[in-house]
Amino acid sequence: MGRSEEIGRIGQSHHWVRGNVPLCSQCMVCGQQCGSQPKLCDYRCIWCQRTVHDDCMGGDLKTENCDLGEFRSLIIPSNYLWAVKQLKRSKNVDYMKLIASMGRNWTPLIVLANTRSGNNMGEVLVSEFKGLLNPLQVFDLSKTSPFKALQLCSILPPNSAKVLVCGGDGTVGWVLDAVDEMKIKGQENFIPQVAVLPLGTGNDLANTLGWGAGYAGEVPVEQILRNVMEADSTKLDRWKVQVTNKGYSLRKPKVMSMNNYFSVGPDALMALNFHTHREKTPSLFSSRLVNKAVYLFYGTKDCLVQECKDLDKKVEVRVCAALRNLCALYKRPPYLRTPDLQTTTSYKRTSGCC
Ligand SMILES: [Zn+2]
Ligand SMILES: [Zn+2]
Repeated sequence: MGRSEEIGRIGQSHHWVRGNVPLCSQCMVCGQQCGSQPKLCDYRCIWCQRTVHDDCMGGDLKTENCDLGEFRSLIIPSNYLWAVKQLKRSKNVDYMKLIASMGRNWTPLIVLANTRSGNNMGEVLVSEFKGLLNPLQVFDLSKTSPFKALQLCSILPPNSAKVLVCGGDGTVGWVLDAVDEMKIKGQENFIPQVAVLPLGTGNDLANTLGWGAGYAGEVPVEQILRNVMEADSTKLDRWKVQVTNKGYSLRKPKVMSMNNYFSVGPDALMALNFHTHREKTPSLFSSRLVNKAVYLFYGTKDCLVQECKDLDKKVEVRVCAALRNLCALYKRPPYLRTPDLQTTTSYKRTSGCC
């Protein structure tokens, strides 16, 4: 059975909307150009993105089953969500029949975008992804927390969901923490694979995984979805970092998660200063160039003020309980990998760039 047939079995008709037909689109009936007139004309299906002339629209097309188009393997059809709701209402928790009807190639995508990252590109992406996917599978992280958004995975087939995080290293870390929380709450079977669209100023994790150093609209969102569909999966080391005071202290140790690096010293101070400044006045940090200039300012300032002088005498670093020399660690590559730590699945692109 073909992929389109499997996913199409959930039974959903085209949803035709008049106007807003992209330039250079082709009528699915006559094959001629659509949407070329300077007025509200022609139709576009909001699921499969197919277009048709006013004159070519017939009764058959209105009732024809929609195969959801090129991104059918990523879209969560409304009918699927409706069917899940019905099953819950009837207290029938056996989703197997419904899941089987979607086929094995169905890997629905949840988009989590940080609209504060990357020169308002997050807001543009939310709007564009909502146009290509079901709007219910696209989340703005300034309105919905990652853990709440990821609960959508629990009504999808086990081990099928993918997540595209649009943001910087901090946003990815936030989402991976929510994935860890899912594991703690017994949702291990619904853990998604995570892809990254780098929007922030710090995109080292995305770069390491092959998703590029930053996205500013260079390629259309359709290509990003194709990259997600073609990507290979890879395991990612996750570390726990525990910060304790030397000697006797009433303070509890602070435990944090780390993905590919953590910093102690001047660069950490620079990042903290940048973060504090951005939280106070987010409107000033709308451009990647300005952000880099602010980083440069704080980096230069630290060279003069030297707040981190003699840090190796004040801080002890232990990796897997063994004491390490801080100065020696500074000279090493920033990636420390070990197989005995907590891991989560991440996603790696195979070709193209974004
Ligand atoms: Zn359609
Ligand atoms: Zn036509």
